[in-house]
Amino acid sequence: MADDQSAMNELHWLIDMVQTIEVGLVVLDKDYNIQLWNGFMENHSGVSPNSIKGKNLFKQFDYLPSKWLKHKMESVFQLKNRAFISWEQRPFIFQFKNYRPITGRADFMYQNVTLLPLSSLTGEVTHLSMIVYDVTDVAINKLQLKAVNESLEVLSQIDGLTQLYNRRHWQLCMQKEFDRNSRYGDETTLVMLDIDNFKLINDTYGHQAGDKVIQNVSHLIKKSLRETDCAGRYGGEEFGVVLANTPAANALFFAERLRKKVEQSETVFDEQIIKVTISIGICDIQPEVLTSEAWLCLADQALYQAKESGRNSCAIHQHNNN
Ligand code: GH3
Ligand code: MG
Ligand code: MG
Repeated sequence: MADDQSAMNELHWLIDMVQTIEVGLVVLDKDYNIQLWNGFMENHSGVSPNSIKGKNLFKQFDYLPSKWLKHKMESVFQLKNRAFISWEQRPFIFQFKNYRPITGRADFMYQNVTLLPLSSLTGEVTHLSMIVYDVTDVAINKLQLKAVNESLEVLSQIDGLTQLYNRRHWQLCMQKEFDRNSRYGDETTLVMLDIDNFKLINDTYGHQAGDKVIQNVSHLIKKSLRETDCAGRYGGEEFGVVLANTPAANALFFAERLRKKVEQSETVFDEQIIKVTISIGICDIQPEVLTSEAWLCLADQALYQAKESGRNSCAIHQHNNN
C-alpha cells in the first residue's frame, strides 16, 4: 500500500515537472495525433493541451515541413532509434516567437529537437516524443561569432588607406596566380607601379596630402581592373597588379592607359591642385621564371628601368629567350 502511495506520488511529481520544465514535450501516436502537449508548448504556441489533444500535428501547424519531418519520424518508429534535428540544419521546427530580453535580437526561437521512440508495455513502439530545446542564446552567439570572424578575415586582407589588398594578401594572390600559371600555361602578367618623386609631394604639401594622392591613384587602379585581376598596395606608394590571361603586350596597353589616366588626373587638397605621374614595370611568366619571388624581382627591375629612363613611363622585362 505504501509502495502504491509512493508510486502515485512520484507520478504526480513527474506530471508536475513535465508541465513546468523549460523544455517542450509532445507525444504523438503513429498517425501524428497529439497525445501530450506540455506547459512549455502551451506557453509558446498559445494553444492549450485540452484544445489540441487528439488533433493531428500537421493539420494543426500547416507550416511544418511535413514531408521531411514525417520521413524522420517514420524512421524513428521503424528503427526504434532516436533522431536529432539541430538548429544548424533547420533554425526551428515550431514557429515560436522569441520573447527573451537577452536575445532580443532574434525574432524567433532557435530549436534543437530530439525525436524519441516510446514503447508500450509489450515493447512495441506505438508513440513518439518530440523534445524541443530553446537554443536561441547558443545560436545567436555562434552566428555573431561567425559574422565577426568573417569580417575580421576580410579586414585582415584589406589595406585601410586604399581599400586595395594589403601586401600580405596580395602576395598570396600573386603566388596562387603564379602556381596556376605554371600548371596550365596561361599567360599572366605582373605589373608593378610606383608614384614618381613622391617624397617631394610629401615635402611640399604634407603627409596628409600625400595620403590623398595615394588614395586617388588607388582609385584609378581599381577602376581599371577586370574581375579576375588582383591589385594590392605593395608598399607606401608602390602597387602590384596581377593581370590574369594577359600577355605582356596587352599588359602594356593596360599600363599605358593607367599611366595616362594618372598623368591627367588631379588631387585637390586644401584648395591646392596636386599632379603626379607613375612609373610602371611589366613582366610576364616565361619558363625561366621559376618562382613567384623571381617574377616579382624581374617586374621590379623593369620598374627601375622605367624610373631610369626619366619616369612617367612603362618598361617591359625582356626575357633572354626573346
Ligand atoms: P621615385 O620616383 O624614385 O619613386 O621617388 P620617390 O620620392 O617616390 O621615392 P620612393 O618611392 O622611394 O619614396 C616613397 C616615399 O613615400 C617615402 C615615404 O616617405 C612615402 N610614404 C610611404 N608610405 C606613405 C604613406 O602611407 N603616406 C604618405 N603620405 N607617404 C608615404
Ligand atoms: Mg616613388
Ligand atoms: Mg616607392
